[in-house]
Amino acid sequence: MIKSKKGLYLHIPFCVKKCNYCDFLSAPAAEEDRKAYAACLKKEILAYRSAEYEADTVFFGGGTPSLLSANSIKELMQTLHTAFIIEETAEITMECNPETVDKEKLCAMRKAGINRISFGLQSAVDRELALLGRIHNYERFLRAYYDAREAGFENISIDLMSAIPEQTESSWEETLKKVIDLKPEHISAYSLIIEEGTVFYDRQKELMLPDEDTERQMYHRTKELLQNAGYARYEISNYARPGFESRHNLKYWSGAEYIGMGQGASSLLGGIRFHNPYDGRRYRESCENLTALRCEEERLTKTAQMEEFCFLGLRRMKGISEEEFRELFGRKLAEVYPGVVEGFVEQGLLAKQGEWIFLTEKGTDVSNRIFAEFLLDE
Ligand code: SF4
Repeated sequence: MIKSKKGLYLHIPFCVKKCNYCDFLSAPAAEEDRKAYAACLKKEILAYRSAEYEADTVFFGGGTPSLLSANSIKELMQTLHTAFIIEETAEITMECNPETVDKEKLCAMRKAGINRISFGLQSAVDRELALLGRIHNYERFLRAYYDAREAGFENISIDLMSAIPEQTESSWEETLKKVIDLKPEHISAYSLIIEEGTVFYDRQKELMLPDEDTERQMYHRTKELLQNAGYARYEISNYARPGFESRHNLKYWSGAEYIGMGQGASSLLGGIRFHNPYDGRRYRESCENLTALRCEEERLTKTAQMEEFCFLGLRRMKGISEEEFRELFGRKLAEVYPGVVEGFVEQGLLAKQGEWIFLTEKGTDVSNRIFAEFLLDE
C-alpha cells in the first residue's frame, strides 16, 4: 500500500433527471432532501477529525455535485478544512452538469476553494445529447464553460463519450474539434458501455449503435486529434495538457489511499477497501459513526496489492516500475509473473524502457486481455 497524502472523495447522489445510459448511484431529489444530505455529509466529514489525515486532492463527484447550493458548497469546504489537513495547493474538483450552473454559482464555487471543474458534456451534437437523455444542449454547455473561465477557473476538464447511438465518425470528429477549440486543460474520452439497469439496457435492440469498426476508428481518431492539439494521453481514456493530469484520479491508478464520503462512496484506507451503505436511509442513520458506515471491508492481501499495482498501474501510459514493485513487495516482478511481461513484449503488446513497463499502441487495444494475465491464484 502506498502511504501518502490522501485523496478525499465526496459523493453527491442527486441529478435533475437520470440519463439514459447512467448506472451511477444518483437520482432526482427535492431541495430539502439535498440540504438534509449535505448536513449528513458534514457529520461524516467531522467524524474523521481526530485522525488528522492530510489530503492533497478533493473530488466532489456524483450524481451532480453542482446541484448543491452555493451555501452548501461553502459549508462543506469549511467542514473539510476543519476535519482534514488539506494542502494549500490541493487539487479540488467539482463535477458540473452545465445546466445546473450560472456565473454566480461558479464564482461562489471558486470563492469556496474549488479550483478545478469537470464538465460532463459527452457530445457537442444536440441530437446525440437528446438521445443520451442529457438535460443540456451544446449552447448551454458553452455558456457554462465561458462562465467558468470568467469565474476564474484555470483548470477545466471536459468529459466526452464515443460510440453513442446514431453517432458517426464525422459527428464524433465534430465534437472533438469543437472541444479542442475551447482549449480545456483536460479531456476524458470514454466509450459508451451499456450497463444493466439503464434505459439503454432495456432498449438495446432499438439503439442504432456504431459498429465495432466505426468504434475503433473513433478511438484512433480521438488519440490522433487530441495529441496533435497538444494533449498527452496519460491514461487509456484521459488526456491532458502538461501538468494538468487529474491528480485525484491518478491516485486510483497508483494504489494511493483515498477516503470516500457520502452515500455508497468507497475508500481505500490502511490497506482496507470498504464502502459506505448504498441505501440512502442507512447512510443517513449511520453518518456520524464511521464504524457503522463501513460495508464489505476487505483487507487487501499482498497478492491483491500486487495484482492491483499491475493492472491499475498499466492503465497509465507511463506504466509500472519494476523498481517500485520490488521496493513495495520485496520481490521481483519477473519472479511473481514469470514470462508474462516477456511474452507480451514479444507480441508487441507491452514495451520496456529501463525500469518501466507500459502498454504499446497495439497493447492498448487489447488492454483487458493483458490485465487479466496479472491476476494471481491465491
Ligand atoms: S448527470 Fe451524470 S450522474 Fe446524473 S444521471 Fe446523468 S450521467 Fe448519471
